Amino acid sequence: MTEELDCLTCGACCRTGADGRILIPPEDLVRWRKMGRDDIAAAVQPGHFGLVGFATREDGSCVHLGTPNSAHACRIYDLRGTTCRDFEKGSSQCLEFRRDAGH
Ligand code: SF4
Ligand code: SF4
Repeated sequence: MTEELDCLTCGACCRTGADGRILIPPEDLVRWRKMGRDDIAAAVQPGHFGLVGFATREDGSCVHLGTPNSAHACRIYDLRGTTCRDFEKGSSQCLEFRRDAGH
């Protein structure tokens, strides 16, 4: 099942709504600033649990979602946040996001 899921035709977990749900641990902010990517560290909004989350567009998608080649790809994939890296394709949350997105 998991092998059959194709993130590049999905992107549902990067479209979780406009309330800062994709959280960013402080270490990520430090990491981006150290590498001179203050732009990524600044593209945040208040999130849950006193943390910040990735800034979102009006449609609830992460501001980093979408490349010239794919509407479902991450523009900062190699530098993406810990939450993004840890998110498991095929997990119950993944399947829930997919279901909510109608995939
Ligand atoms: S919701 Fe699941 S299948 Fe869709 S992009 Fe995220 S990890 Fe991949
Ligand atoms: S940083 Fe990339 S992987 Fe993480 S939520 Fe945004 S678009 Fe998705």
